[in-house]
Amino acid sequence: MAQIPSSFKANNTPDRRPGLSVDVASLTGAFVIRAARLLLSSDSDIIQDGAVVIKGETIISSGLWLAVQPTLSPDTEILDLGDVTLMPGLFDCHVHLSMDPSFFATTGSAPPKGEELFARMQTNCFRVLDAGVTTVRDLGCPGTYSTEFRDRISAGVAQGPRILSANAPITVPGGHANAWGGIASGVEGCRQEARKRIQEGVDVIKVMTTGGFLTPGSSPEKARYTVEELRAIAEEAHAHNIPVTTHATGLEGIERAVDAGFDCIEHCAWSVEGGTRFDEEIAKKIVAKNVAVCPTMNTACVEKDYFLPWDAREHVMKNLSRLRDHGVQMVVGTDNGIGLCPFERYADGLSVLVEAGYSLREIIASATDRASKVCGLSTVTGKLLPGMSADIVAFAGNPLESVEAFFNPRFVMARGRQHKLTPIPPPADNSEMAELISKLLRKGAGLTQ
Ligand SMILES: [Zn+2]
Repeated sequence: MAQIPSSFKANNTPDRRPGLSVDVASLTGAFVIRAARLLLSSDSDIIQDGAVVIKGETIISSGLWLAVQPTLSPDTEILDLGDVTLMPGLFDCHVHLSMDPSFFATTGSAPPKGEELFARMQTNCFRVLDAGVTTVRDLGCPGTYSTEFRDRISAGVAQGPRILSANAPITVPGGHANAWGGIASGVEGCRQEARKRIQEGVDVIKVMTTGGFLTPGSSPEKARYTVEELRAIAEEAHAHNIPVTTHATGLEGIERAVDAGFDCIEHCAWSVEGGTRFDEEIAKKIVAKNVAVCPTMNTACVEKDYFLPWDAREHVMKNLSRLRDHGVQMVVGTDNGIGLCPFERYADGLSVLVEAGYSLREIIASATDRASKVCGLSTVTGKLLPGMSADIVAFAGNPLESVEAFFNPRFVMARGRQHKLTPIPPPADNSEMAELISKLLRKGAGLTQ
């Protein structure tokens, strides 16, 4: 069994803490975090001088410090973070904890196995927490590593954010990420594969309705499953109250997933032969069916060293703005874990969303309460309200005023456990690698431009 590293304290609430003089039943063992600014949820106003009271893994109360203070006994432990903004822990609705972002790799390259892979996942989880992310959807790994690692965190032998696991994505023979093992075809084959995931205990089912740029020859612009095949998967997932999402770069694969009743679309790149083409009718259908879209903006999408292979940056940004104009329900996710997209640089993706026209309040909603709703966790996390999980982060500055705040996390607590932060390093110089990767991916996808 792995040992708990010293960098992650099981709980920063010491046992010597005395009981309280008021509300003893609920507040004994409570711990208070105070800050100059407090944002309880994405739709609330900033509270000047706020506090959150927690006990174990749960928020007991929150609000104005002056209102909270009288309920505390004089010797309650108070952590005063000073000039920061306290807010709900963030969601990254699309990561790959089994991948190493420090080098470029396709989905076909053999990852380490066993404890070596778990060690990588542990390192990645620390970097996720460094960014202020306290919940992730781990949308694709070889075999069952994700559910196994998730269970290690729950058992206290590994540390990290709350993980919603998909394990191996369901994909056609030769399809995107087929090396991870989730190969299925035909209506019955797809249904069986979905049942297998449910048996593995996944929290979400991930499908590859199109090929992907990281799997040469898989055709990112083409649909790989029929609507009937996709419907069989969605039916199985929904029968077990599990959401179903899909990798969908190509336009046709996006539409089929929507028609089949999927809950979420990853990437939504609008890829067609030779580039991208935003489709108004499909966008309207996405809105009408209340399907969420996770556009996976990340380090690859920032202007400097842009290497997203979908299309020229101006087109990708325009498509993103149109998604917003149509009122599509957006959730924040990054695809971090893929080459040169480090987990701790989560805020890169947020800065791209700002550039595309999303307001900071919209982005905060998409990274907190809206994400929690789409992930089926709306009563658990996403707001700093009594009864909810102590997923609490603090950023320097005011995240409602500048996206820069998200590059400066000052405090991170996931399910009542404080994480010792490693500062986020400055962006790497990816200029040479970025160009090479983009060319390689486009070539692998059969695109010549
Ligand atoms: Zn992905």
